[in-house]
Order: sequence, then C-alpha cells, then structure tokens
Amino acid sequence: MAEKRDMVQIDSLEKYFGEDKERVHVLKGVTLNIPEGSLYTFLGPSGCGKTTTLRCVAGLERPDPTNKRPIGMVFQSYAIWPHMTVAENVAYPLTIQRRPKDEVKRRVGDVLKIVGLDGLEDRPAPKLSGGQQQRVAFARALINEPKVMLLDEPLSNLDAKLRVQMRSEIKALQRRTNITTIFVTHDQAEALAISDQIAVMHGGVLLEVGAPHQLYSRPTRRFTATFLGLTNLIDGKIVELAGDGQQGKIQTKKGLLSFIPAPGLKKDQAAVISIRPENIPLHKVKPQGLENILEGTVKEAIFMGDAYQCKVAIGDDLLAVHTHPFNAVSPGEKFICSSIRQAVTVFPRMIGKVLMNRY
Ligand code: ATP
Repeated sequence: MAEKRDMVQIDSLEKYFGEDKERVHVLKGVTLNIPEGSLYTFLGPSGCGKTTTLRCVAGLERPDPTNKRPIGMVFQSYAIWPHMTVAENVAYPLTIQRRPKDEVKRRVGDVLKIVGLDGLEDRPAPKLSGGQQQRVAFARALINEPKVMLLDEPLSNLDAKLRVQMRSEIKALQRRTNITTIFVTHDQAEALAISDQIAVMHGGVLLEVGAPHQLYSRPTRRFTATFLGLTNLIDGKIVELAGDGQQGKIQTKKGLLSFIPAPGLKKDQAAVISIRPENIPLHKVKPQGLENILEGTVKEAIFMGDAYQCKVAIGDDLLAVHTHPFNAVSPGEKFICSSIRQAVTVFPRMIGKVLMNRY
C-alpha cells in the first residue's frame, strides 16, 4: 500500500504573545506531520498551546493566506446563528459566496445527510438539542468540502453522556468523509477514544506523538504516562540492560524489577518506573514463574462495578491496583502483586530545575 502523504506539516513553530517584559513564549519549536485522512489530536492541559497551534494551522495567527486555506473549523462555542434555520445556518458559507440557489440546496441536503440531520432543514436553530446544534456546526464546516477540519474542543459544552455519544459520531463522520481532522482536547479519555494519533503537549512543547494504545501502554515521557491515566511511579536506578534491548533490571526500594527498555536508556541511570493499576494482578499464593513480585496488604478496596480500585501497602508506599470484580477484595487482606515486564515502563529521572522543565 502506498504511504499516506502528509496533509499538514509544522516545522519548528515558535510563537510569542505580548511585548517586552510581558512577552510569553507560548510555542517552543513545535514540529509535527499529520497524514492525509487521519484524525490527529492535540492533547494537553489548559494553557499548553493546543489552540494556538491550531490557530497557526488555520492561519488565524498570521493573516496572510487565511481565507485561501481549504479548512473548516468548529469551535468550543459552535456559534450557530439563533435567528436562522438549520438549512440557513449550514448554507451560510455558500450564501456569502453567492452560489446559485439550486446548488446551495443540493449541497445543504448532502451535508445534512452526512451528519444525520436530514429532515430538519426548516427547524429554527434554538429548537435543537445541544448534540444537534453541534452537528449543524459540523455540517457548516463540511459544506465547503474542506481538505482539513479543525475541531477545537467541540464537545466541551455538552453533558457527559452526549460527549461520549458525539465522540463516536465524530469518529464515524471522519471515517466516512476521510477528511484530515485535527481535534483539540484536554480530556485524555476523549483523545484515546477518537484519535488515530495523539500529540501530547505541555508548556508549549510537543512531548511525543503516537497511536493511543502505544502512548498509553509504552509512553516515553513521564508526563504522558501520568496525563493519560492513573499510574504508579517508583524511583530506582537501572542496573542492567541486556539481550539486545529486550531486558532491563531496575533497583528500587521495593526490590529488583524487570522491564523492557525503551531506546536511549543507560545503565546506572536514575530512573522512574510506571506501572498502571490494571496491570498488577493480586494473588493469594505466590505464583510460579511470574516476575516483579511484591507482597502487600490491602488498605482500601472500593467496588466500582467493573473493578475493585485498591490501595495496597508495600512497605511504606501505597500502590494503586485495579482488580477484576470477580474476586472480592477487602481491606486487611494480604496479597502478592505481580506485573509482567511488558507492563513496566521506565523513564530517565530528571533532576534539577532545568531538566525538570524538559519533562
Ligand atoms: P485551553 O485548553 O485552556 O484552551 P490551550 O492549550 O489551548 O489551553 P492556548 O489557548 O494555546 O492553550 O494558550 C497558550 C498560552 O498562550 C496560554 O498561556 C495563554 O494564556 C496564552 N495566550 C493565548 N492567546 C493569547 C493572546 N492572544 N495574548 C496573550 N496570551 C495568549
């Protein structure tokens, strides 16, 4: 199969706001490539520079070629006009281009079908639900047949249930239209559920890019590990790297633990381990042949329906452990925890302010 070409390329993007003493460095050398037809997410905490990056792609931060770029945008406040019907809202970009009436009618009909609003052409905008208003905003962005869709936190005004439903719809819509789409969110679950690729941003820096599964299970940055979900972090020192990068051992105060090293780690390096709570099975008796075995006592066990969320004391420290609800777990019980080496991720430990800023 032919390689997909990149539809959007950003190379060493720098952006400052303000002047003199007030000057803030908002984007610090952001470089990324977005393959044609993919759904690509900028994920990061508030203020990390997601929207500014998106606005640079849109040309809104530099006025020159803005209106020539074949893009469609949907914002957090989806800004549909209350005094217009669904069809008038969606037709608006074509109306201002003075396209012929029959073409407008046909194209409005086509995009309303795509977003599942056909039949509601004459409904006044205020008489729509939140999810329907969002779909009107999508339809309006789609009507110009954009090459790239930019979605800036488009679901954040919807209630929790509708958000989940609409993110499936956005994914399905993107698959159907195959339009290269950039999606901005600070919600990690949303990013994991919707994206082909996620670019993790923090403090104006793009930390790493990867597919959801890869970033969740094998992050290369500590920030990614903690931002994408709950995890246990344990300090240690790498004491062995062997077997063509297939095996590493790290000494922690909990004992010697095995892991599969990411490229770039070094022996004797100060490091941090990340193990996700769902990757720590609890055993009543010491299991044969399993690695990374730790003994602990359950301090807290909260039944969540789909799991017990436990805190297990290992020495002075507490480990977050999520177990299958099939086996009941109660505080005070002693267990043996294990974790396969594939589930143990190790990052270099950054010490000192300068290194800390590099995450
Ligand atoms: P959020 O999720 O809160 O929208 P974000 O990751 O999208 O955050 P940006 O909106 O890109 O972040 O903002 C990045 C930084 O730039 C923030 O510190 C913000 O305060 C600052 N900033 C953004 N726009 C301007 C502006 N027009 N003038 C000055 N500072 C700005």
